[in-house]
Amino acid sequence: MSISKLAGSINESPTLKLNEAAAKLREKGEAVIHLGGGEPKNKAPISAILSAAAKLNTGDIKYTPTDGIGSLKKAIVRYTEENYDRMVSTDNVIISQGAKQALFALLYTLVNPQDEVIILAPYWVSYPDMVRMVYGIPVIVKPDDGRFVPSLKDVKEAVSSYTKMIIVNSPNNPSGVIYPESFIAELVDFCETKGIYLVMDDIYQKLVFDGKKSPIAYKYTKKDIESTKVITINGISKLYGMTGFRVGWAVASKEIVKAMSIVQSQISSCTSVLLQAGAEGALNGLQSAVESLRLTLENNRNVMIQELNSFTGIKLIPPDGTYYCLPDFRAYSNDSVALADFLLKKALVVTVPGKEFGMEGHLRISYSTTVKDVKVGIERIKWALDPSSPNEIYIGERKLVRDWL
Ligand code: PMP
Repeated sequence: MSISKLAGSINESPTLKLNEAAAKLREKGEAVIHLGGGEPKNKAPISAILSAAAKLNTGDIKYTPTDGIGSLKKAIVRYTEENYDRMVSTDNVIISQGAKQALFALLYTLVNPQDEVIILAPYWVSYPDMVRMVYGIPVIVKPDDGRFVPSLKDVKEAVSSYTKMIIVNSPNNPSGVIYPESFIAELVDFCETKGIYLVMDDIYQKLVFDGKKSPIAYKYTKKDIESTKVITINGISKLYGMTGFRVGWAVASKEIVKAMSIVQSQISSCTSVLLQAGAEGALNGLQSAVESLRLTLENNRNVMIQELNSFTGIKLIPPDGTYYCLPDFRAYSNDSVALADFLLKKALVVTVPGKEFGMEGHLRISYSTTVKDVKVGIERIKWALDPSSPNEIYIGERKLVRDWL
């Protein structure tokens, strides 16, 4: 076999790898608790199901334009106006197979070999590999210890003549933090002055807690959609918990959208018309589904904070949004890969090593599951790590005794 150098250098998605390990344990009958994923338990909104089903019933399931069906693009134009106070046209919107493909097509469209893309740690696992897949160079900017937002000074210092783009994800996967308004305002100004693209990955934008709001980058530019450096990535996966529908989009200038469309035409031709119909149903339907998901997540987040706070060694910056938090486990281990592995083997709980997100010594723990799983999962982690917790625990019928502390 001669796998290409590029393919050989790309990392497997750690979350998918962990899913596999957990599935194997489950097959053996083990009661694994999954706090590793980014999917809520909800069903797709009824308007999405009806819309996709109605399209399926026509039997007329064909290719669509590469950049998506006009009616879905119109729904996204309206979404952009309502949520971003920004007037755009359907020519500024491209539909992709998930926000992931939108981001990849965007990187492919804008990044030349050796161009640098600044990524702020902690970051979504896929960004660095996606940048490498277009022969770009990921440049990671880390915050000071104990913080999840890097300083603007450090971001500016990381900029070179090769910098093409900065990617910001707020609220942030994996930390759940919302970036400060002033940070985004200054970053928009800086990027526009320097001619650097500012890509806002906004897929958790509406899933925020305690009445907080994530900053809207468009608010800080006076330029119109054709000339601003701000590009937005979005999708239905997180917003409605419709991960399997694989629909996302980008909002950018007509020129960029057209070039991305050519790229997509050679990769996937288009996103399935059925799934686009589902996305259209979700966006045009009652938005109470979003609020109900948001409330569930906020409640789960509260339970997660409460459980983690009763844990002596852990430091937590409470998440402002998303499905995740990123507690600091350095009191127990500096090796997050070994720690996650240990917790899966001993306590049958899936977590994701912080190392994968550029934050060693932390674990990403998801609260997108049930309250019961959050409670039992943290109790098991506590049992495995904290000597002050009882040294016996029941997993199902089985009594486990801790003999390693
Ligand atoms: N961006 C971030 C920050 C994410 O967390 C994810 C999914 N985990 C994506 C993009 C990709 O989303 P999609 O399912 O729409 O491809």
